[in-house]
Amino acid sequence: MGLIALPAALPAAEQTYTVKRGDTVFGIARSCGVSSSALAERNGLSRNYYLSIGQKLVIPAKQPARPAAAKPARPPAAAAPPRIPRPIQRAIDRASVRPGRWQYIVIHHSGVDTGTMKAMDHYHREVRHMENGLAYHFVIGNGSGMGDGEIGISRRWTLQLDGGHLASEAQDRVALGICLVGNFDLHKPDARQLESLRALVDTLLARCRLSPDAVKVHQQINIVHTRCPGTNFPTATFLNSLKPPPPRK
Ligand SMILES: [Zn+2]
Repeated sequence: MGLIALPAALPAAEQTYTVKRGDTVFGIARSCGVSSSALAERNGLSRNYYLSIGQKLVIPAKQPARPAAAKPARPPAAAAPPRIPRPIQRAIDRASVRPGRWQYIVIHHSGVDTGTMKAMDHYHREVRHMENGLAYHFVIGNGSGMGDGEIGISRRWTLQLDGGHLASEAQDRVALGICLVGNFDLHKPDARQLESLRALVDTLLARCRLSPDAVKVHQQINIVHTRCPGTNFPTATFLNSLKPPPPRK
């Protein structure tokens, strides 16, 4: 959609947009020339940027580059080293994790380069007929559909439900699933996704009282049936980075 450029002297008008099938916050924001976060904030969207068809969104006016303009309600994200965002930490802490509930943390890729929690949930519920929907406990976005490195928490974590991401129910019963959006048979995960993955895995290891040996990639669990999380996922580097360095001889 084309927006009309207004003379700078006039107050910038906000426009509305009605969500169509297949729309994402990322896509709408890009086509309107605003940031996903500005669009989400203006419309009070949840962290996971859930949209429903027919929903009306206010497209925020583009901010002119002007010093001392009205301050945003929240301070901009600090350029701090990657840590798990506090709301995610709180949500992870809030779930009542039974001792021994989980034995593995399994890493997947989605196999496609755009994705939202909502779209994956719909696919798993309607196409794969999983009554609990979204098969993973966590999803990490890549900037297309979800924010780059954004961590989404599914109800399977909140409610401590079995996963739906492995080949057998016995495996799903004891394995947390983390899915990174992207096709890592074609390219590597981006740096922000890996930073978020590291922060999330560290947090879950502590929360579930697991050792780094509990962290696996999907291919290590279901060897024959999958290359997930893709040939470009840095499996050895990532898994080794979780472990303390070996003692010197
Ligand atoms: Zn997988």
